[in-house]
Amino acid sequence: MLDRYGRSITYLRVSVTELCNLRCRYCMPADGIKKKDHENMLSEEELIRALRVAASCGIRKLRITGGEPLVKKNIISICQQAAAVEGIEELCITTNGLLLPQLAAPLRQAGVSRINMSLDTLDPDKYRYISRVGSLEQALAGLEAALAVGFEKIKINTVLIGGFNDEEIPDLAELTRRYPIDLRFIELMPMYDSGDFGPEAFIPCASVLDRLPEAEQAEQDGGVAKLYRLPGSQGNIGLISPVSAHFCAECNRLRLTADGKLKPCLHAPTEYSIKGLDEEGMRRQFEAAILGKPQWHGELSATSRSQAGRNMNQIGG
Ligand code: SAM
Ligand code: SF4
Repeated sequence: MLDRYGRSITYLRVSVTELCNLRCRYCMPADGIKKKDHENMLSEEELIRALRVAASCGIRKLRITGGEPLVKKNIISICQQAAAVEGIEELCITTNGLLLPQLAAPLRQAGVSRINMSLDTLDPDKYRYISRVGSLEQALAGLEAALAVGFEKIKINTVLIGGFNDEEIPDLAELTRRYPIDLRFIELMPMYDSGDFGPEAFIPCASVLDRLPEAEQAEQDGGVAKLYRLPGSQGNIGLISPVSAHFCAECNRLRLTADGKLKPCLHAPTEYSIKGLDEEGMRRQFEAAILGKPQWHGELSATSRSQAGRNMNQIGG
């Protein structure tokens, strides 16, 4: 379905939980979040109903996200049913990877086609610092597990944080030589309450290229990342610049939160609830959300906060 600005909305990002086994400093408060009552969250049945409606409105690609989607007890069942929805051509998942050693194989069997894994540093102490609780070893074991069960075109997502991982850009880029994966650097977004990092931590994606003099422009794939490549590498390096060079004109996304709100734009407060609705009611809300998608996300810079009204773990990225 087309929105009011002629964009074809084909991609739904679905957050299945707000909970997470990490507490990344740019994403979540240190003490986590209060678990909401069951009845306020979408049930599995409502979620699959919503996905059927989404497909009938023209959605072709799904990305399961969170919070951390792999902490959700019924994640395999959700993926199996999502992959089977008529009209859905691609089912992807975004994860911190910690539970991939156990879940990579069942996810692949359930029909997940692609995995994106978040990894901001290759230093064990810094990994523990940024995630507050996590283990780099466990995350890398997750990556190895996903490769071992045959996932292809895995993408590693790295949030650029000045004074934290800018010195590591060359080492992180080396991952594309070591593994058959793509690596994407993403600008830090000033979310609602991502309190630990202020404007001084923002570094634009363009600065990545200063640190990678060997990088050459790669063939572009029409996605939101500008693609580069190191000689002899097995994958691309992508630069995603939501802050310094927004890509709203090409945005084909809609988001569904775990508490059943459709968000037409990551950085806008407007939401359309589908909780408790039958198929027809949900369809009306999907159509309203697509037609209500703003032209762009409004002013967003290192110094102006996102208007999303939620932290990233409550949206899904
Ligand atoms: N837990 C999963 C993970 O970390 O991949 C999925 C959910 S997480 C909210 C999705 C993505 O959002 C991650 O790649 C994370 O790095 C990114 N993210 C979270 N907060 C962010 C922020 N303030 N700016 C930029 N990216 C952010
Ligand atoms: Fe959890 Fe992902 Fe947010 Fe980190 S970025 S706290 S792993 S939801």
